[in-house]
Amino acid sequence: MVEVNFVIGIDLGGTNVRVGLVDTHGGLMATNQCPIRAEEGVEAGLGRIFDLVEKTFAASGTARLAGIGVGATGPVDPRRGFINNPYTLPGWERVPVVARLQERFQVPVRLENDADAAALGEYWVGAGKGVSRLYAVTVGTGLGTAFVLEGEILRGLDGAHPEGGHHVLDPSGPPCYCGARGCWESLASGSAIARQAQLGVEKHPDSLLLSLASGDAGRIDTQIVAQAALRGDSLAKSVVEAAAEYLALGIANVVSFFTPEVLVLSGGVMNTPQLFLPAIQAALQKHTVVVPAARVRVLPAALGDFAGLIGAAYTVVKTL
Ligand SMILES: [Zn+2]
Repeated sequence: MVEVNFVIGIDLGGTNVRVGLVDTHGGLMATNQCPIRAEEGVEAGLGRIFDLVEKTFAASGTARLAGIGVGATGPVDPRRGFINNPYTLPGWERVPVVARLQERFQVPVRLENDADAAALGEYWVGAGKGVSRLYAVTVGTGLGTAFVLEGEILRGLDGAHPEGGHHVLDPSGPPCYCGARGCWESLASGSAIARQAQLGVEKHPDSLLLSLASGDAGRIDTQIVAQAALRGDSLAKSVVEAAAEYLALGIANVVSFFTPEVLVLSGGVMNTPQLFLPAIQAALQKHTVVVPAARVRVLPAALGDFAGLIGAAYTVVKTL
């Protein structure tokens, strides 16, 4: 009898943890998720992850667990296997997640930054399947970037994850939590879009934005802004246009620096690509004349919310 191998992929975010059972060809066989509740502490969080891994692996029947890949909200230290993230996982500082999973399940465990894991997923079985240069931009609450070169993550000094989301586009722009002003993330992410819309309704209380949020400006999020923009609300349209302009400018910079074959766009903001793609195409034509930008394919991600855990599984599969 041929032994069947499966890998567990884990996508650990600031809010939820998702676990998937992945076969060695990138097929997703089962998934489960639960809140991570960082405020309850590291041990409680690890316990929830262990339970979810067991529950998910049970769907494999009699297969053998070949390993576990983790994509976690950064900063992480992939070489030493630590999560070091006081920003979106309060209390998760110097957490040896690789050692803890190895100890618990007795299999090889790998750790990557979540943006890198998602890019690997899209490279393995998604929008950029098999291309030699893939740049991924995830525009959700934050703005994450990753570059996969010949199937390997491009790392910085001492294994650091290059933070493209914090390259500065406007030094006089809004303050970013990183301490700088006008970072790409602070101008074009979902949070940036929501914040600009929330500020805007103070001056334009008649905006459709406010009625879609039941009169509570604090409830205006990216989805509401997108919905109002598609329905022609002028404030929502101007917020989206400004964010699209900055998103496009950042992408033009990326193309100038890396000239990828495929640039994959993912994240909640990309649920309405029609609001952003025209600005991106225009910026590429305008700002990238000396690189072959016309041949860079800008594509929506193919794996949706599962890119991270599929890519995390890939980090193990490629070592089998
Ligand atoms: Zn920043």
